[in-house]
Amino acid sequence: MHDLIIVGSGPAGLSAAVYAMRAGLDTLVIEKDPVSGGQILITYEVDNYLGLPGINGFDMGTKFREHADKLGAKFAEGTVSSITTEKKGSDTEAPLFKVTTDLGEHEAKTIILATGASHNKLGVKGEEEFTGRGVSYCATCDGAFFRNKVAVVNGGGDVAVEDAIFLARGCSKVYLVHRRDELRAAKILQQELLALPNVEVVWDSVIEEVKGDNKVTAVSVKNVKSGETKDIETDALFVAIGIHPLTEAFSGLADMDDNGYIIAGEDGATSTPGIFVAGDSRKKRLRQIVTAVADGANAVTAVQDFLIGKE
Ligand code: NAP
Repeated sequence: MHDLIIVGSGPAGLSAAVYAMRAGLDTLVIEKDPVSGGQILITYEVDNYLGLPGINGFDMGTKFREHADKLGAKFAEGTVSSITTEKKGSDTEAPLFKVTTDLGEHEAKTIILATGASHNKLGVKGEEEFTGRGVSYCATCDGAFFRNKVAVVNGGGDVAVEDAIFLARGCSKVYLVHRRDELRAAKILQQELLALPNVEVVWDSVIEEVKGDNKVTAVSVKNVKSGETKDIETDALFVAIGIHPLTEAFSGLADMDDNGYIIAGEDGATSTPGIFVAGDSRKKRLRQIVTAVADGANAVTAVQDFLIGKE
């Protein structure tokens, strides 16, 4: 039985692994993908992580994993379907958690949930049909297919603006469709975007339909102020309208808010003793790599306190 199982190997999970190994905890990291790093793997450039300006997301994920490996962290592949609590031994003993994955079962005295978040879908006609045939959720992964072509990005947050800037380097024209008249993204990204000659922002507009034959040819866009609808001819639609936490498998395990974010303070302690949360799936104000990494460190400190009975 492990002292600690960390579910997820993004920045929060890998940071937790580093701190847990340094604390001498018998730790297992369970990851659903064979490559560690989480969402940063599909980020072409991270420019706000202290000391590593402009680092490529994949390189950053690789560095994080190498750090955990160097300290001897153990990894197991598997998608977690449930975590159950079993009280073992005397009442004073810590409960035992059984983690079930598609590839086996593991046991630990404590758990850190670090499963992060995933992209939202628009839910409009044609989106599903044309996914992989022009509709994408990852500009870094699929942008190269649209070199010298037209792309539409939907959203107004950091991801949408970063995607539009990235795509503008290779595409002939990029439209950024946003539902309001103001972007949510960091000001420095907005300035960079608005200075690009081949980017056009379509304000106050929502995408109502993705059109095409065997691949995307246009998106139907409605101006929410005037009610006017028009088609924008395009080869691709990149959807970047936010994220949702990957916590479905943990329903009932710990208190969550209405959107599925796990409720916990900075120490990551959830409503269930022995279960901790770190990273983007925790209910918090700022979801960044630096806050995920900090969450991982804090959660391990709380795990140590829990294991020596300070709680
Ligand atoms: P986000 O910040 O939540 O932005 C989502 C955007 O999509 C918003 O502009 C929102 O519009 C729009 N939107 C939401 N639902 C929509 C819908 N149904 N139809 C049309 N538009 C819709 O999400 P994100 O950009 O994916 O970023 C996720 C998190 O990662 C954020 O906390 C972000 O700061 C962080 N992040 C940070 C960096 C960085 O620091 N370098 C890079 C990437 C991501 P409204 O503005 O009108 O709400």
